[in-house]
Amino acid sequence: MNDQLTIALSKGRIYKDTLPLLEAAGIEPLEDPSKSRKLILPTNQPNVRLLIVRATDAPTYVAHGAADIGVAGKDVLMEAPSHNLFELLDLEIAKCRLMVAGPEVEKPHGHRLKIATKYLKSAQAYYAQKGEQVDLIKLYGSMEIAPLIDLADRIVDLVDTGNTLKANGLVPMEHIADISSRLIVNQHAYKTKFDQINTIIQQFKTVIEKENA
Ligand code: AMP
Repeated sequence: MNDQLTIALSKGRIYKDTLPLLEAAGIEPLEDPSKSRKLILPTNQPNVRLLIVRATDAPTYVAHGAADIGVAGKDVLMEAPSHNLFELLDLEIAKCRLMVAGPEVEKPHGHRLKIATKYLKSAQAYYAQKGEQVDLIKLYGSMEIAPLIDLADRIVDLVDTGNTLKANGLVPMEHIADISSRLIVNQHAYKTKFDQINTIIQQFKTVIEKENA
């Protein structure tokens, strides 16, 4: 049986916050991705390796079975197709909120609200559920600029401390969803590597429960 386990996760916040969970499962990367250019990192367990991928790509690697399990933000999962993968555990890390934000004093406008966002699917679902017709404008980053230069009236973006909004003269207006990172598992791998994956889940759970007690 192939007992090689591949874990997809992104550099930065998710990697940093996942490390203690991995450690509790006895998995320690042999290199630091912030220092190494390697994208496939060996660990102290010869049959476990880490794939360092773009945050938005983690569900794709897992859905296609290129990784058995992975870590992805709920914001990313809400935008990605969900076939072939299970979302099995809320890791309670990289927490923030998906929100509508805009200028404190909004300019009067005679058109449908224009909303700039990277999160098209989530924004679409939110406004559809409100029964509000809006025009969505897809951006890939720096959404905060859009209302400042009249590209859009408001934005839908992730908010943590609110400092980025504040620095750009914007205020949080409507809460769409609480976001945190989730453990995702390839459906086929969950069957064929059940014991290995389930052991990791139980070890992760112990840390999460302790941290959030
Ligand atoms: P803040 O200024 O603390 O409200 O952080 C907002 C900025 O950080 C926005 O540009 C967000 O896209 C990004 N951000 C905050 N929290 C997260 C998170 N958990 N995952 C990814 N990006 C985040």
